[in-house]
Amino acid sequence: MMAHELNGRHALVTGGGTGIGLAIARALAGAGAQVTITGRRPEVLEEAAQATAGLHARSMDVTDEASVASAISAAIADRGPVDICVANAGIAEGRGLAKTDLEFWRRIMTTNLDGAFLTIRECMASMHALPWGRVIAVSSIAGIKGSRGTCAYTASKHGVLGLIRALSVDYMGKGITFNALCPGYVDTAIIEQNTTLISERTGMSAGEARAVMVDQNPHGRLIKPAEVAASASWLPAPGSDSVNGQAVEIAGGQV
Ligand code: NAP
Repeated sequence: MMAHELNGRHALVTGGGTGIGLAIARALAGAGAQVTITGRRPEVLEEAAQATAGLHARSMDVTDEASVASAISAAIADRGPVDICVANAGIAEGRGLAKTDLEFWRRIMTTNLDGAFLTIRECMASMHALPWGRVIAVSSIAGIKGSRGTCAYTASKHGVLGLIRALSVDYMGKGITFNALCPGYVDTAIIEQNTTLISERTGMSAGEARAVMVDQNPHGRLIKPAEVAASASWLPAPGSDSVNGQAVEIAGGQV
């Protein structure tokens, strides 16, 4: 994206202090947007905001409706209506069906699906009246296909895709598009956490556990957060108005 293409735009990125969200927030700020980054850990957000011009920290827990409503309305009061909403916050943990108790299921769904719903609804409260807007959700390859031992995560990410597709129909012709990014395994803290979990459960070494994830990407390597950000960047760029309701796979090959 060109340096000043998003001048005057307000973007909000959940989970914007780390990993994929931070890479997207930096790319949008690099194109001139003012970017509100949210998450539960204020110190992580502050550090990110201090390192990059145009990023603004705001604490928000996507599982808490009141927190989402108050944080987004405060961001709107500071920087105006949200032009670009990036619902990225999420957690990933694999468990087979028998070990998926309701508490675990709810934790995954509340963060990944309820969180995306609440974020988008509160951003749309200001965006719906604008002539132009972008909603981008970070789903996953798990939003498109099933994989072993991930029923709750996969259901939550399929849900995110359903939400995006339905909203793209609801707001058709109003200048606002809704799309989902569907990455394969990306080199972030989630990979580190999963490496530890796989090692603990299977007795594999860290290297072997990491290779299990690398092997899932058809091109045989982890994806960089900046590669996901590059896809997030063309959705608000000129010429993207007709891309709507799509699942953009960033997985290194066909899935
Ligand atoms: P990450 O660095 O762990 O990012 C997750 C972000 O979500 C963190 O900034 C975290 O901030 C935030 N978050 C988690 N729970 C939250 C809550 N309840 N309220 C507010 N914020 C919350 O990992 P990542 O890989 O960049 O993940 C970003 C998204 O990409 C997730 O939706 C994930 O499912 C998706 N994804 C990742 C991969 C991958 O391989 N890494 C692949 C496909 C899709 P706090 O902890 O400070 O709240």
